Amino acid sequence: MITLALSKGRIFDETLPLLAAAGIQVLEDPETSRKLILPTSHADVRVVLVRASDVPTYVEYGGADLGVTGKDTLIEHGGQGLYQPLDLKIAQCRMSVAVPAHFDYASAVRQGSRLRVATKYTAIAREFFAGKGVHVDLIKLYGSMELAPLTGLADAIVDLVSTGKTLQANQLVEVEHIMDISSRLVVNQAALKLKQASIRPIIDAFAQAIAKTADPTP
Ligand code: AMP
Repeated sequence: MITLALSKGRIFDETLPLLAAAGIQVLEDPETSRKLILPTSHADVRVVLVRASDVPTYVEYGGADLGVTGKDTLIEHGGQGLYQPLDLKIAQCRMSVAVPAHFDYASAVRQGSRLRVATKYTAIAREFFAGKGVHVDLIKLYGSMELAPLTGLADAIVDLVSTGKTLQANQLVEVEHIMDISSRLVVNQAALKLKQASIRPIIDAFAQAIAKTADPTP
């Protein structure tokens, strides 16, 4: 049995075409089913639904053989014990610093002010600001980061930005682009050795599907 860990929503939806390229159809819709283990058209392949931030943990400890997870989540997790063969180029967005439109971020940085930064991504934020030589107090949040500067909890946030509409709706502006983010395939290292014959074809089919999307000419 091969177990693939996915999170509901964008990653699940954008992984389906890759699975289809490997000849695998997921037989139930996670939006309507309450099941956490979904069967597929392959009797020996199943999908488990976990929280996005739990995907690397499931794969690291062998609760799943494979998983799809954002680069952001992988960096925060540390990526220990995970083989990362492919950038799937799905769920693409960027990690940015944003501040209220009226906050003069550039001069705060120039003057060496200490910034209060709210984020779910403390490892990424710590490394980024350390690299810039900016002193920060990090405030760990688990969601709705945009609210922090609006309520006086923080001067700035570090969060994922896709269209920029969430920032705009909350009068926040992007002041730093930290990194581009996309989702990766992660594989349990022991499973890769022990279940090579089943896992390799899936990795190869995913790789071919990505190459085709990048260059659609036949
Ligand atoms: P947007 O308004 O399109 O810029 O989307 C920003 C909101 O969606 C923020 O709350 C982000 O945390 C979240 N978001 C954007 N892209 C992703 C992604 N690839 N994975 C998870 N969350 C995302």
